[in-house]
Parts: sequence; structure tokens; C-alpha cells
Amino acid sequence: MGDRSVDRGKQSDSNSEWYKIQESLKGEFGSESYDTWLQGLEFRELDNGIARLSARTPFIRDWVQRHYADRIKDLWQRNNDGVLGVEVVTARKSGACDGLSEREARAAPAQASVIFQDSLGGALDPKYTFDNFVVGKSNELAYNAARRVAESREVPFNPLFLHGGVGLGKTHLMHAIAQEVRKHAPDKKVVYLSAERFMYQFITALRYKDTVAFKRQFRNVDLLMIDDVQFIANKNSTQEEFFHTFNALVDNRRQVVISADRSPTDLKGIEERIISRLGWGLVADIHPTDYELRMGILQAKAEQARDISVPEEVLELLARRITSNVRELEGALNRVIAYGTLVGRPVTVDMVQDVLQDLLRANDRKVTIDEIQRQVAEYYNLRLSELLSSRRARAIARPRQVAMFLAKQMTSRSLPEIGRKFGGRDHTTVMHAVRKIEDLRRTDSTLDEDIHRLSRMLEG
Ligand code: ADP
Ligand code: MG
Repeated sequence: MGDRSVDRGKQSDSNSEWYKIQESLKGEFGSESYDTWLQGLEFRELDNGIARLSARTPFIRDWVQRHYADRIKDLWQRNNDGVLGVEVVTARKSGACDGLSEREARAAPAQASVIFQDSLGGALDPKYTFDNFVVGKSNELAYNAARRVAESREVPFNPLFLHGGVGLGKTHLMHAIAQEVRKHAPDKKVVYLSAERFMYQFITALRYKDTVAFKRQFRNVDLLMIDDVQFIANKNSTQEEFFHTFNALVDNRRQVVISADRSPTDLKGIEERIISRLGWGLVADIHPTDYELRMGILQAKAEQARDISVPEEVLELLARRITSNVRELEGALNRVIAYGTLVGRPVTVDMVQDVLQDLLRANDRKVTIDEIQRQVAEYYNLRLSELLSSRRARAIARPRQVAMFLAKQMTSRSLPEIGRKFGGRDHTTVMHAVRKIEDLRRTDSTLDEDIHRLSRMLEG
């Protein structure tokens, strides 16, 4: 309190925390979004639990606040539970002019054309090729469709709409299409960009009253790919422009490829007529990976690591435990390899469990009390209503105690919360049940076996 040096220490800790968070954000959102919105943010201060970041323009400030602040807060809280919220402010209060900084506004006409020239399309990652894409059941339709688009002389289907959850390879496939086309048909004009960037450029053009150039540039391409189109939901003027661009290209038999994190019909906040047109071509979804595909991806990546060998059982462990998405899977393998190389230790299952402790725990399936109750009732052949009733007959009371015990063990709910979920019982009843089961299972091997089985079933 009032100790300035302590405060200063904290601020510089927060600054380095911010660097770490930026790394995670880049991994999570990809370099395209990162470069557009997040890279320029600077850490200002940590003030009464509020981490303050400054953005270059009010527009970026609002966008980041709306779309990224919650995620930034979560990431920050993992490192520092003193952070209660994240606030984005603009770097300079004076000179802000209609959403643009003073400098930008002054440089307007000249800068507009520069923005168009060097960033009409985003940069392509040379690693994202078809060769480096491992094909399995969950992504073969998307993969084959992408190849067709890249290799056909005619437009095979328009648009190609790729959708699937985060980190499942949509961006990878789009970059692969772009690189393949550039190789085989270098005279074709190929543009890849995120929907965010499309929106940013469109809004910039509006501000600079340069929409004619904007339209001309986009309508002049042979292959337009727009990534993460869910971002323009609810952005009406951008949607409208996107729709016009899209129609103009399709009508001129130019190929359009779109990706989103959900199917066209599930896109909320996007106009009906747009949604229906998005579904006219081929809609290919990428499903979550299965174990085989995860193994395939890990084996391919592990082979590229020359300096260190990663044993099969470690790959199996990763494939079994990290099921969320490929990006996280890759990240885990990279961490293991980096660690092994740095400390010069062979990679083993033990070491991996140690190094990836947090990640493995975060990937553990979250079990809910409802699931536990359902599973336990079924296991003991009871109705759910009986399990939750106040009946004290042993044949019902014991399973109920087992369910409470599992709720305590497998969820992070508190005793009172568990009590409420079990027909409004008191927390002492839950505590008693937990102790009772702990005691009993030491001597009662059937009960012990029941608990093991139930846990395994619940862990899925
Ligand atoms: P999305 O755009 O769907 O969120 P990305 O294309 O960014 O996902 O993929 C995340 C990471 O996982 C990238 O590094 C990508 O190369 C990798 N990846 C995803 N699917 C595969 C696959 N089938 N084979 C190889 N790498 C993959
Ligand atoms: Mg992506």
C-alpha cells in the first residue's frame, strides 16, 4: 500500500504477462486477426484490478472491446487472479476524428491507396499446403473439395463453403488453395483475407470516401477467399457490400471460397438472402478429429522434428488426451519437443505429463452433476426422481451418496451447490455422504469397483 516500488514491480510483471497473452492470442486467432486488431495494443496500467490496454484508434478500441476483451481477461486471469476486467482505451484522446486517429485522418487520401495495395489479401503461410494436410474421415470432403477448386480450370461449385470448429484446418485449406493456384496459374488474381480484414478495409474505404476503388479491386479477382465470415454478422453495411461483391463474382464465374465456424443456416445475424446464396455451391463441414487423424497429424509433425525423437506412446497419450482441436494438439507437441531439446532430456510419458499438466487438465472432459445423477441412477436401476427423493431406504440412499461423492470428486462444485442439486439438501448431508463413501469403499470392494466403473463411464 503506497509502496511505489512494489507497484512498479507489479506493473512490469503485468507488462510481461501481456506479452505472454499476446502470444496466446496470436495462436488462438491466427496471425491475420492478430495483426489487424491485437498486435498494436499496448499495455498501459493495472489499476484496481482493471488491466488497461490502449488501441491506436477508437474503431479498433471498440472492436477489441467487443470481440476480444473477454478472452483477454480469461487468459490474464490464468496468470494473475488479481485481474478482474480488461478495458481498452484509445492512445490519444484529442485528435480522434470520426473513429480515426488524427494522423490517419490527415493522411487520409494518400493512405487509403496504400492500405489497398499492400493488404488487399492477407499473407499466406507457406506451411499451409495440401501436402502438409493430413486427411482423415472428418475432413476428407473439405479436403477433396478444396483440391477440386485449386485444380479445376472451370469453377466446380460456387461458392465453396467450408465450416467447422476452431483449429480444425479451415484456414490451412484456404491457404493451400491459394498457394496451389499461384503455382499452377500464376496469372490468376487470388485474394485471401479474413472477414474482419474485409470489413476493416471496407469501413476504411467508406471513411475515405473511396468505395469505388474498393469495389473495383475486389470485383477484379479470379478467386476470392474470405475466412471466418461469421465476423460480419450484424455488421449491416459490410454485409451488404460483401453480398454485392460475392454476387458480382459469382455472376462473372469467378470462384469464391468462404469459411465460417458454423454452417450457413446457423449463421446468426446474417441476412436470409445472403445465407441462402451461401448454400448454393458446395457446403463442406470439417468434423472434430478422431483418434486416428490425431495420431496421423502427430506422426507427421513428429517426423519433422529432427533433433529429438518422440516415442509412439507419447504420441498416443497426446492423441488420446488432447481432443479439442488440431491447433492445441500441435501446440502440445511443440511444447514437448521444445522442452526436451532445451533440457536435453529424452521425451517420456512421465515428462509429458509433467510438462503439459495444465493443458491436460484443461482438456479433461467436464462432467456435470446432472450427468452424474443420470449415470448413477441408470447404473443402480433407479429412476432419477427416486435418486433425488427424500426416501431413506438403503437401496436408494446408498446410490444417492455415491452420486454425491462423485459430484464432489469430479466437479468443482461446492458442498452447498451439490446439496441444492440433490433436492435442496443441506451441505452437511453432502459432507456426510462423501465421508461415508470414502470409509465404506476401503472395506467394501464391490462398492469400490462400482465407483471405478462409474468414474470411467463418466470420463467418457
Ligand atoms: P481453423 O482455421 O479451422 O481455425 P487452422 O487452419 O488455423 O484452423 O488450423 C489450426 C492448426 O492446425 C494449423 O497449424 C494447421 O496447420 C493445423 N491443422 C489443422 N488440421 C490439420 C490437418 N488435417 N493436418 C495437418 N495440420 C492441420
Ligand atoms: Mg482460421
